[in-house]
Amino acid sequence: MQYTSLRHIQSALKSGETSVLGLVKDYLKNIEENVHLNAYVEVFSDEAMENAKTLDIKIKETPDSLGKLFGCIVSIKDLICYKNHYISAGSKILDGFESQFSATAVQAIVNEDAIIIGRTNCDEFGMGSANTNSYFGPVKNGADDTRISGGSSGGAAVSVQTNTCLIALGTDTGGSVRQPASFCGVVGYKPTYGMVSRHGLIAYASSFDQIGIIARQTEDIDCIMSIISVLDDYDSTMFQKALYKDESFKAKQLSDIKIAYIEEAFDNEVLDPLIKNEISNRLDSLQSEGVLVHKIQFPLLEYLVPCYYILTTAEASSNLSRYDGVRYGYRSPNAVTLDDMYVLSRTEGFGQEVKKRIMLGSFVLSEAYYEAYFTKAQQIRQMVIDHLILIFRDYDFIVMPTAPKVAWPLAEKPDDPLEIYMSDIYTVLANLAGIPAISIPLGNNIENMPFGIQLLGAAKEDKKLLWFAKKLNFAEHLI
Ligand code: GLN
Repeated sequence: MQYTSLRHIQSALKSGETSVLGLVKDYLKNIEENVHLNAYVEVFSDEAMENAKTLDIKIKETPDSLGKLFGCIVSIKDLICYKNHYISAGSKILDGFESQFSATAVQAIVNEDAIIIGRTNCDEFGMGSANTNSYFGPVKNGADDTRISGGSSGGAAVSVQTNTCLIALGTDTGGSVRQPASFCGVVGYKPTYGMVSRHGLIAYASSFDQIGIIARQTEDIDCIMSIISVLDDYDSTMFQKALYKDESFKAKQLSDIKIAYIEEAFDNEVLDPLIKNEISNRLDSLQSEGVLVHKIQFPLLEYLVPCYYILTTAEASSNLSRYDGVRYGYRSPNAVTLDDMYVLSRTEGFGQEVKKRIMLGSFVLSEAYYEAYFTKAQQIRQMVIDHLILIFRDYDFIVMPTAPKVAWPLAEKPDDPLEIYMSDIYTVLANLAGIPAISIPLGNNIENMPFGIQLLGAAKEDKKLLWFAKKLNFAEHLI
């Protein structure tokens, strides 16, 4: 079985070439064959097969009542709620916790006959860039299982990479969908902030978090977006208008497109020369097709990572205060007093990276340092947004690498934690500014490790961004 797009799957189902049950069984077999990669925390085998059988009957007997996503098999990150199923955010602290409701995005795809096949492993509460911060152990890359998958949606990226589902729903606070997608040779997209409801997405940093999509084809991302971008009273930060479906966009000629690439991003010592080279070759060929490509300056680039980590840890320290051993999941059995119960439940329940970030966040919000760190970072965030508005007045898209290098070996543990934080240099911009961004596979290095190219668009111009990403089709020859 090698169906790489929903279009192919649906026509094969309609012609009787395959059945939904057959599809699900094939995916389950692939899950089993790749179990060593640790991409899934839980597989919903029986349930997925039951749902497949029901859908096969519907295809035969009442085809007019089929939802738009029949035949679409989806994995969901362990940070996205699915009613009556366990969810643990890659953490011990949510041990035994069951979702009381489905995330709005999950409900929307299920209503259209998508089938959820399992929940995927991730960094604890989405905090990480390598998927090595999960309570359930690291996720390994399907291209080389001695290497990391990327993170925090590592399981999601590997689930698509190894053909265990068609679509993965992940979350992206600072690159967690795009970076693992780049490391695994698949497409990863983060919508404009406010396009997709965050209801049912476990919060890490609420003003950054968005549900994102990983797929093999941009056209499938377009299809899923038109279904999950729905108004939702449960998320007050959502747009009330100009949601994905209503966005008016007419396809343009390539010769009408203007692209900017950021000088500081390319002339940066952290960037692998091969990736730099490959991107500039692609830009050259776009230019020869009539696209206008300009180099621009973005002097704020060096402030993005510090600004991101100050603001997200501040938000995280507040969001994670709800895990107190009383309401959700894990409660320490070793506590005698009430205070002990709070302290021990959190001490034993949270992993090291999460604790580090809660402490950092509490520090930057403390009375003595609030002005120096938190307020400053907020000011920089506003400057970034203002600067981008100016850029998007002149250009349709910004092009950047997705990550400075390919997936690194699992055994290679950087001594300096800042080194890992710095690897987010190209992805955090989209979340700081709330703009849409997509990583598309661009090539493989000499060791056959994939890397991607990143396109960023103006806020609310998601449709245009996906149109252009589809047009580029760099991915096609790799799939
Ligand atoms: N690597 C980033 C972090 O650790 C991004 C995480 C994410 O997007 N969830 O915060």
